[in-house]
Amino acid sequence: TDAHGAMTGSAHPSDRIDTSVAHPARRYNYWLGGKDNFQADRDSGDAMAEAFPTIRTAALENRRFLQRAVRYLAREAGIRQFLDIGTGIPTADNTHEVAQRIAPESRVVYVDNDPIVLAHARALLTSSPQGATAYIDADLREPEKILTHPELLRTIDLSRPVALMLVAILHFLPDDDDPKALLTRLVDALPPGSYLAASHATHDYLPPHIAEQAKAAAKGGGPHGLVNLRSLAEFTAYFEGLEVVEPGITSVAEWHADDAPQPRPSVAEVSMYGAVACKA
Ligand code: SAH
Repeated sequence: TDAHGAMTGSAHPSDRIDTSVAHPARRYNYWLGGKDNFQADRDSGDAMAEAFPTIRTAALENRRFLQRAVRYLAREAGIRQFLDIGTGIPTADNTHEVAQRIAPESRVVYVDNDPIVLAHARALLTSSPQGATAYIDADLREPEKILTHPELLRTIDLSRPVALMLVAILHFLPDDDDPKALLTRLVDALPPGSYLAASHATHDYLPPHIAEQAKAAAKGGGPHGLVNLRSLAEFTAYFEGLEVVEPGITSVAEWHADDAPQPRPSVAEVSMYGAVACKA
């Protein structure tokens, strides 16, 4: 196999893991029913669940959206290279597993800034022999570091189409970080025929008083866990200049959900937008 999978970063990941404050990857793992989380993550996760009781449904439906999006990209769009930023703690059916089941030659670069994900990266480096996977310890706010990283350049060919996956990550960036500019920098580095798949938490589907509660709870997510709920107009702006594929920008629960488990949750219970778009 040429799944190199070097793990980068100076210190041992465990030296950088702070269990005293909630982190998004561990809180998401808690909502999904995983075991890789600590008291601070559970407390933060429970506080958010109090304001927004269907948060576990939302997390699960987001994860299913990611898997359906990868299936669409591999099967319908013929994509064989993936750049998955905001990977999360490995769980069942990670991006490379879904893609390589359809096309074993698929190549996937994972990027996350949380040392806990780095500590679990081995589970992401289980590529099929025909394909490759790599893990880069980096932040979405450092697009140059990601795009010029030796592991990325060794794993994917930036002159051929790439699917950029920004699934449930953009809402961790405040407006001050200019998520649109970061996304554009990444998309600009990809050739025509590339794709963007993204999802994002929103308050749009909630009755006003619940939306206020949810916004307040999201702000209490801790220094690393703050969630910036955004509107349809704000999410749509991320796709400017791209061709959004059918069925357009929808709730993640409704995106290519024909074969999703029934009954479907309501869009308010999920409160996440999702879309896939092509760079012409
Ligand atoms: N994409 C996966 C996991 C979502 S959880 C899924 O949808 O199932 C969000 C992940 O984004 C976490 O692992 C968190 O550590 C990571 N993340 C948050 N902000 C980030 C940033 N600025 N740079 C890189 N990763 C980030």
